[in-house]
Amino acid sequence: MEKTTLAIVVPCFNEEEVLPQTNERLRGLLDEMMRQHLVGEESYILYVDDGSRDRTWPIIAGYSDADVHVRGLKLAGNVGHQNALMAGLDTARLDADVTVSIDADLQDDIHVIPEMVRKFDGGCDIVYGVRRKRTTDSFFKRTTAQMFYKFMSGMGVKSVYNHADFRLMSRRAVDALCMYEERNLFLRGLVPLLGYKTDSVYYDRLERQAGESKYPLSKMLSFAVDGITSFSVKPLRLIFYLGSAFLLISLGILIYVIVALCEGRGVQGWASLMLSIWFVGGCMLICLSIIAAYIGRIYTEGKHRPRYNIEQYLK
Ligand code: UDP
Ligand code: MG
Repeated sequence: MEKTTLAIVVPCFNEEEVLPQTNERLRGLLDEMMRQHLVGEESYILYVDDGSRDRTWPIIAGYSDADVHVRGLKLAGNVGHQNALMAGLDTARLDADVTVSIDADLQDDIHVIPEMVRKFDGGCDIVYGVRRKRTTDSFFKRTTAQMFYKFMSGMGVKSVYNHADFRLMSRRAVDALCMYEERNLFLRGLVPLLGYKTDSVYYDRLERQAGESKYPLSKMLSFAVDGITSFSVKPLRLIFYLGSAFLLISLGILIYVIVALCEGRGVQGWASLMLSIWFVGGCMLICLSIIAAYIGRIYTEGKHRPRYNIEQYLK
């Protein structure tokens, strides 16, 4: 039987500090897996340079020159983690039977990759890498990430708890994924929709080996908004409930006013009037912005722009 060709896809954005370590460890692992005949000799690591501004690309190009098992894909600009990952998967599916995606910082334990491949051999199309605990993340990162998962599931977005983008996908799963043409990519929400047989492997999340997180709070927030607006219309429904609640409150106030007038008491209160005008006004603006978020998605999706452009592919 032909041995499985594995492609390990690694999106990299300004990762010059961590790349040497990453490459050494991934290469070691790949060698080991080839030696054990778990994967074929054609297997490779594909580094996707997401428009880095540091020496990331020259480093990748150097590895790729020196080593047949390393390839580099340079994108023509920074398109973000999800799109960069998609570019890598889209390229790898041309000649790989199975892909494993992993972040360049190796916070995810590469030693479960063989286990993932074994599950693939056992008939799974998708294998999630799931973090057992996140004690090595900073308190801030941990709580915000936890809030993120909770919030997402509250908003009705199905995603695998404590799973990021460390996963194995068979070629047909990647093919299926590529049929989903949305621009506002949220892969960990999309992959469960593919419907193929899935399984999980568990590991402890490690510390970032070098360099710093490329996901500041602002990016995490916009990532969360992407996830929710791409998978759930629950926020739109919440607006209806909010409006209904406000109507009920106004009814109560109306009754209060009528009773006060009937009893001959005047109705007064500049302060409460101002308060309610600003309160209701603020709520309306927030609701508008929720609707606007969806309209914005329609706008960007409607243009069907390409997700990424390739500048160079080094095999
Ligand atoms: N990344 C990318 N493009 C970006 C931002 C990040 O390709 O615009 C890559 C980055 O190089 C890393 C992965 O996405 O391989 C995850 O980023 P990071 O480790 O900084 O995120 P965190 O683990 O802190 O959530
Ligand atoms: Mg990381």
